[in-house]
Amino acid sequence: MKHIKFLAVVALALCIGVSLNAKPKIRIIATGGTIAGVSTTSASSAYTAGQVGIQTLIDAVPQILQLADISGEQLVNIGSQDMNDEVWLKLAKRINVLLNEEGYDGIVITHGTDTMEETAYFLNLTVKSDKPVVLAGSMRPSNAISADGPANLYNAVAAAVSPACKGVGVLCCMNNQLLDAKTVIKTHTIDCDTFEGGPSGIIGYIYNGEAHMLQTPNNKHTVNSVFDVTKLDKLPRVGIVYGYANCSPLPMKAFVDAGFDGIVLAGVGDGNFYKDVFDVAVGAQNKGIQIVRSSRCPTGPTCLNSEVDDAKYHFVAALDLNPQKARVLLMLALTKTHDWQEIQKFFMEY
Ligand code: ASP
Repeated sequence: MKHIKFLAVVALALCIGVSLNAKPKIRIIATGGTIAGVSTTSASSAYTAGQVGIQTLIDAVPQILQLADISGEQLVNIGSQDMNDEVWLKLAKRINVLLNEEGYDGIVITHGTDTMEETAYFLNLTVKSDKPVVLAGSMRPSNAISADGPANLYNAVAAAVSPACKGVGVLCCMNNQLLDAKTVIKTHTIDCDTFEGGPSGIIGYIYNGEAHMLQTPNNKHTVNSVFDVTKLDKLPRVGIVYGYANCSPLPMKAFVDAGFDGIVLAGVGDGNFYKDVFDVAVGAQNKGIQIVRSSRCPTGPTCLNSEVDDAKYHFVAALDLNPQKARVLLMLALTKTHDWQEIQKFFMEY
């Protein structure tokens, strides 16, 4: 009997020891991008995104196995210029299952940089967990001289295992920096140092495999978001119209004629329309197609009731969101309401 008790105590101690030493369980979901891209020669800038699979990405950075219990899955393998609503819905639902039902401690998503900011913001509004969710990509293909993908992936895993990255919403991890989903923007077409965090700057950085946070976002996200895609298999259709001098109203008309649910204006200055486009926008809004005014300017808000009388026309001002992120929020807002004032409230909160 004493012998059995002794064995039970030893077994318990071993179990406790194992669980104390257990590494965080991190899932890497691969979607393609330049991080999985291959160029014809390592010195060439001509390449195709989304070529190598998840296991190749993991094998290239064995150091991540020291940080976490790593597993991977391939969701799609595309250049992020081909990202779409269907993949977004799949991704958000999959992350919610992994974090809330399958016991994962964090998620890393490998992703192309072209639309990374849109995917990050979509997930920021639809992931129902405060566990770290971190997107990483690269500007140089996997076989380039000085490829930046491996370091970005290592840093993203370091962020995903860090308690500091819990509860701050979805992050992008590029070039040693952590950027929050709402403010992150791609600013350069080819440089490795392409992502910026808007006027408030980066949210943190990774140094020596550890995350250091500098600030926390003050907008609603993840567990505090009202948007739920669990039962959705498609999203409202929202297009973006670009503003410029002597602007043609034809793209705006085309969206109206095609029965889109909403249109975002990438307006000039503080979200201003060219006069011919303005007339089409007023007609669209009267028909129930929600118009959101944003700006083609890279910085600064699109202000409510400033140069344009939004209250009169029932337009919504995008405030701090650029056109591509305003489109994401408008799509999700339209799953909840068609009331322009409610939608404006969402733009103030998220
Ligand atoms: N076109 C690529 C993509 O977004 C660019 C990149 O990943 O850097 O997938």
